Amino acid sequence: MLVVMERNATPELIARVCEEIKNMGLKAHPMAGTKRTAIGVTGNDGQVDSDRILILKGVRDVVRITPPYKLVSREHKAEDTIVRVGDATIGGREFAVMAGPCSVESRDQCMIIAERMAASGVKIFRGGAFKPRTSPYSFQGLGEKGLEILAEVRQKFGLVIVTEAMDTETLDLVASYTDIIQIGARNMQNYSLLKKAGRSTKPVLLKRGISATFEELLMAAEYVMAEGNENVILCERGVRSASNHRHNVLDLSAVPFVKRYSHLPIIADPSHGTGSRDRVVPLSRAALAAGADGLLVEVHHEPSKALSDAAQAISPDEFEGLMKVMRRMAPVLDRTLP
Ligand code: PEP
Ligand code: MN
Repeated sequence: MLVVMERNATPELIARVCEEIKNMGLKAHPMAGTKRTAIGVTGNDGQVDSDRILILKGVRDVVRITPPYKLVSREHKAEDTIVRVGDATIGGREFAVMAGPCSVESRDQCMIIAERMAASGVKIFRGGAFKPRTSPYSFQGLGEKGLEILAEVRQKFGLVIVTEAMDTETLDLVASYTDIIQIGARNMQNYSLLKKAGRSTKPVLLKRGISATFEELLMAAEYVMAEGNENVILCERGVRSASNHRHNVLDLSAVPFVKRYSHLPIIADPSHGTGSRDRVVPLSRAALAAGADGLLVEVHHEPSKALSDAAQAISPDEFEGLMKVMRRMAPVLDRTLP
């Protein structure tokens, strides 16, 4: 940690800061520059409460040098994590595509969509049974009935299932049906849910919160890993912007950031990331180009009739077209697509 003093900080103020650093059981190393003094802090092997120093008179800034994440970091594990579920891999050379409806609406709906997804080469089928909706009056999902339908999809088409666990009360139930537990954007910092998912043997798909920083995303993954679950897949799903609130901004710069500082795989969700069907295909291509390990795409056989997120659903035909384009792009990017 480095404490940066104000330009006009007096020797007394500097001494006072050094004193406080020592009181915290750490070592202070003042370094006088031509314009200001910086104080190096050593001896910390855990989290330091930098606020205790930041509030002292004469302190301009406290700069952390060691990142707060450990298990998720590349320093902890240099090689890429590859999550393996059924015959799908997430994080290896193969680009992992998760596709399906926003919500499980009925058995027929899922069977129709799943058949098309499987035919397009998808290995992982998505669909929400417990839905986090902005309005309590909107369709909330079929609950356990939806999970049963997803289990049938797995059986019939051999697809790996990913579905959301919305709270600690239903996590065990969801985990008993699904192959991958999704933690949604709204729950990215629900620490009791993260811890519980961390104690599960199922991989976790962790979506970035709508205003979370990259660091907060990695710290959320740290919660899951700290409980012993090493199979975490991160997902960039767009952040709030100053424009129309319905439309998020898919922040693909999350991909190179995560790749640099973490060994965990990261996929992109251009459906929630844009909120608009006409942007899903172009941004899917961009995600592959940016180095994402896969995609999560919402597909509906009757997009305009979808009970949730209709505006962003693409049709199975559009999806198939996307897969074709990505199969042509993949070799240039040293990727494979099933
Ligand atoms: C979803 O994937 O259906 C979903 C609700 O996503 P998010 O948590 O990113 O809004
Ligand atoms: Mn959705």
